[in-house]
Amino acid sequence: MPTQVITGAVPEREGLAVGDVLVPDGAAAPNALLAAELRHRGLRVRTGPWSSFGLPEPRPPVVAVYTVGGPDGSGTVDAVLAAWHAAAGARTVLLPQPQSFCAGVERAIDIVEQALVRYPHPVYVRKQIVHNLHVVRDLADRGAVFVDELDEVPRGATVVFSAHGVAPDVHRQARERDLRVIDATCPLVTKVHSEVRRFARRDHQILLIGHAGHEEAIGTLGEAPERTRLVQTEADVAALPDIDGPVAYVTQTTLAMDEVATVVAALRERYPHITGPGSDDVCYATTNRQRAVLAVAGQSDLVYVVGSRNSSNSVRLVELVERAGTPARLVEDVTGVRLAELAGAATVGLTAGASASPTLVAEIVRNLGGLGPVEVVERRITTETITFNRPRELDRAGGDAAS
Ligand code: SF4
Repeated sequence: MPTQVITGAVPEREGLAVGDVLVPDGAAAPNALLAAELRHRGLRVRTGPWSSFGLPEPRPPVVAVYTVGGPDGSGTVDAVLAAWHAAAGARTVLLPQPQSFCAGVERAIDIVEQALVRYPHPVYVRKQIVHNLHVVRDLADRGAVFVDELDEVPRGATVVFSAHGVAPDVHRQARERDLRVIDATCPLVTKVHSEVRRFARRDHQILLIGHAGHEEAIGTLGEAPERTRLVQTEADVAALPDIDGPVAYVTQTTLAMDEVATVVAALRERYPHITGPGSDDVCYATTNRQRAVLAVAGQSDLVYVVGSRNSSNSVRLVELVERAGTPARLVEDVTGVRLAELAGAATVGLTAGASASPTLVAEIVRNLGGLGPVEVVERRITTETITFNRPRELDRAGGDAAS
């Protein structure tokens, strides 16, 4: 049974204005989907404990919507309740595994947390440590100061470089500003930088398959800017000039496997003598999350991918599912889930990009439970055991650093 929804009106009083819509938080009645839907439709929604609105919490738990000052004349509340009832029903949630945090993201978050404990504040972080709004907000709340460039960091301060890696030029600027640098670049991104340096030393022209403007691509290009070109598509490959000497390709770590294969095939046709990385640059975490979501896409009416819009691997998951013929939506968290799209979606796939916390996924599952019984079925294609050591800079700081 879906959670019962009750509605009513309460009089205007101090702290409650006419037009406010109250959605009290019960301990056992998940209401985030309803509150989010009301907000999406432009209503001024207030949430909080029942007691904060001077209302007694009913037993058994219910979801409630109260309008302040009388019934909602616009009909919006009624429309949202109709959407809730249309979406209500038993549902299966398919959870492809692996999903959510990868080893590189866990390491990067841990590095900032450790820096906040071990070094004088403020601790600066250049760019988003990982591409996820919740991670960044959480670390900012705990004292991390996020900046775009090093000229925003005072001389001599501590700065963490993000998981996406930086060009050598950024390291040089940090030395010039006498900054204490803790580098949270994922070791698998560092590996791609090393490949670029190796190919450059051997006089190769280098083609980086990646997305223009992405921080990882910018950092990798910076290793040998005079001999590296970015390509994204087969059309980009067709537009490349003839290259007589040695030529090599590397790739961004978070691309779609099928797209990389297409571009690599085009490169091999264009430059039959091209050299590639020893093993694939698309990282294990990206590959596993793509293979896992494809394993559930065909059985799902709809797939949600939890992740931020600037998260490359999350966006690739959405595109991959759509190419497989299943509707897919990128959501930052439970507030991105819309009731209308759940109507008729009896089987929902739910995954998360490598930078999104598993708690965001759990929150969506919990709130789907407000619409009716949910059977959660995990589909695991592999188990990830990889971990990365903390950087030496943190170990040198002493304390409780451990691998
Ligand atoms: S997605 Fe891959 S490359 Fe990026 S941080 Fe995670 S493990 Fe490293």
